[in-house]
Amino acid sequence: MIKTRQDYIDSLKRQHLNVYYNGERVEDITAHPGFIPHINAAAKTYELALLPESEDLLTAISHLTGKKISRFTHIHQSVDDLIKKVQMLRLISHETGSCYQRCVGFDALNATYMTTYDIDAVYGTNYFSRFCDFLRYVQEENLMVVGGMTDPKGDRSKRPSDQSDPDLFTHVTEKRSDGIVIRGAKAHMTGGVNSHEILIMPTQNMTKGDEAYAVCAAIPLKSPGITLIFGRQSNEERKFETGIDAGNKDYGVVGGEALIVFEDVFVPWERVFMCGEIDFTGLLVERFATMHRQNYGGCKGGVSDVIVGATALAAQCQGTSGASHVKDKITEMMHLAESVYSGSVACSAMGSRTPSGAYYPDPLLANCTKHNITRHIYEISRLAHDVAGGIMATMPFDRDLRSPEIGKYVEKYLAGVNGVPAETRMKVLRLIENMTGGTCLVESMHGAGPPQSQRVMYQRLGNLPQKIKMAKKLAKIDE
Ligand code: SF4
Ligand code: FE
Repeated sequence: MIKTRQDYIDSLKRQHLNVYYNGERVEDITAHPGFIPHINAAAKTYELALLPESEDLLTAISHLTGKKISRFTHIHQSVDDLIKKVQMLRLISHETGSCYQRCVGFDALNATYMTTYDIDAVYGTNYFSRFCDFLRYVQEENLMVVGGMTDPKGDRSKRPSDQSDPDLFTHVTEKRSDGIVIRGAKAHMTGGVNSHEILIMPTQNMTKGDEAYAVCAAIPLKSPGITLIFGRQSNEERKFETGIDAGNKDYGVVGGEALIVFEDVFVPWERVFMCGEIDFTGLLVERFATMHRQNYGGCKGGVSDVIVGATALAAQCQGTSGASHVKDKITEMMHLAESVYSGSVACSAMGSRTPSGAYYPDPLLANCTKHNITRHIYEISRLAHDVAGGIMATMPFDRDLRSPEIGKYVEKYLAGVNGVPAETRMKVLRLIENMTGGTCLVESMHGAGPPQSQRVMYQRLGNLPQKIKMAKKLAKIDE
């Protein structure tokens, strides 16, 4: 069982996954600078569970075994659990300033739990008990699970079964007496290379003819036939830097995503939780999406807290912290951070019990929360850039500061207010640059689904006819 940070790292070393980074196979990801920050961030979910001050948020009691488990493997048993999840995410973000990846699998576990229960009620299948066996294993071993939803999707105007290449959507190629065989790929898999299992789910609502694509199953990432191709981030090479230039050297920019390819991967029946039930694909997708969208005010709210702190610090370093417009901009950043956090708390507080007994956040409010992230994180970052100044983007290298020839100039001309050395100022500006650019922003836009997927939920759940009725009543319009 994994308990400590070191246990987690050792478990990754032992796996020898088939991981590729920049065209080359990597034998030991735990020793490779391209992966270390992401591993450090995920390891925080193990470390904080062992500290008395964060244990209450980071752990829970398993409803299956009565044992204390990581909250990341827990099935929400109450509204309180939903709220604690959001509080936990904000707390971890304060430590990492970056994505710690483990929430995706957490949400996949919860979505699959409630949906297998519902499938069984209609079809008399035994997916739920199979899934509970898998869940017990994940809880006992304290594993990290990838939430595998997004397929590459090829031509977006075509259904899965109409694609010229059938593998563009992950699908079942063979049903055998002992299990199924899978082909395809899952894209943008957060924490993919430093997890133990992947829980694949259908990527969208499936209709008649797409039965082979309606598949949910748990697969160890070390299974034969799986290849993981790591995604390049903006500023990827910064991970290889020493000194100031890396920005957030220990935890990186965002989660570390991978394209995970399945080339005829065998999955035994006891790990298959949906196989052909097209009428439940939409529900599973919606539940997973809602639970991941619930998170964003927690995790990005926490990341924003760090950006606010760094921006205030930058203003102090350069003597602008007393200016009224700077104070106002920092106040606005705090307002936005608390606003997104409020959304996550609200959708959790309005959560309800599903037939399985697991609790589920309010879907409309969860979608609203994530939709705000696609805007407010950009605005928070814009204000951070405004206050930090152009120097954030034009500073010399760390090695210029250390150079025997020109170091004196960097020291002299990048110094801040009296007593603040250039190095301090450069450190804080690099942190802001690291946390507010490129991949960070795109993750806020597209992580847990692009903005349009949330707007679709307004159309579905926003109950426009009822709103029209309210207006008619007050305006005394009868027809
Ligand atoms: Fe968790 Fe946030 Fe990363 Fe999603 S983006 S995995 S919610 S930390
Ligand atoms: Fe994300």
